[in-house]
Amino acid sequence: MSDDASGKLVYRRVLLKMSGESFCRSGESGISMAEVASISEQIQRVVASGVQLAIVCGGGNILRGKKFSAVSAAINAPTAHYMGMLATVINGLALQDALENVGVATRLQSAIRMEGVAEPFIRRRCVRHLEKGRVVILAAGTGSPFVTTDTAAALRAREIEADVVLKATRVDGIYAEDPEKNPHAVRYTDITYRDILAQNLEVMDAQAIHHCMEHKLPIVVFNYQKTGNIERVIAGEKIGTRVMADEDG
Ligand code: UDP
Repeated sequence: MSDDASGKLVYRRVLLKMSGESFCRSGESGISMAEVASISEQIQRVVASGVQLAIVCGGGNILRGKKFSAVSAAINAPTAHYMGMLATVINGLALQDALENVGVATRLQSAIRMEGVAEPFIRRRCVRHLEKGRVVILAAGTGSPFVTTDTAAALRAREIEADVVLKATRVDGIYAEDPEKNPHAVRYTDITYRDILAQNLEVMDAQAIHHCMEHKLPIVVFNYQKTGNIERVIAGEKIGTRVMADEDG
């Protein structure tokens, strides 16, 4: 990460976390290819600017392990989490086709081996694809149950030496209260990892925040639904909320 002549942050390698909700229409579940296509067009412009981009897909539009096992006594919790991980592969396939439709070269890598569908996640191979300008879609989370794809995003970002984790959401950043419940809630432009943890803010799961804090990996939470925002945030414009270390680390 460096500053350009105008003082903007310029990222060389970016880890974009796309939640399952970005694969469907607001309030719905499943996959809307219109939504995926619209995001893919934004991503195509970003990649054309030369940034190296890896994307971790969520799966909540299809199934979240914790929720599913809580309401279905017939399913074991680990099984439900594996189902959630497979949901992220379904999203990854949809995103791969949508990106290829707009001319973006991609690779889909999965943390759970499935040879006929995706490459296995191999760190060095992933980095090589990025260096060649391919977008690498990282599916199946960490490959282990009981965590979320936020944690997968934080871990993978560190592994591939990304400069930043960009968390794409449907709100404009991190708020002191839920903006959908209180329309007057105040948005932070900057916040520390410690404050997120201390205030128990529902941004990303605590494991992900801890990992980013430990390795001083910046996070930007932003609204991907405003057209051009993915480009803006990658170009270093100060949109959304930036999460960084305080002076004590
Ligand atoms: N999951 C998991 N291990 C991982 C990542 C995900 O078990 O490393 C499961 C977990 O059950 C989770 C589901 O996959 O609920 C879908 O991911 P997530 O809830 O993070 O999706 P998002 O909220 O981003 O749509």
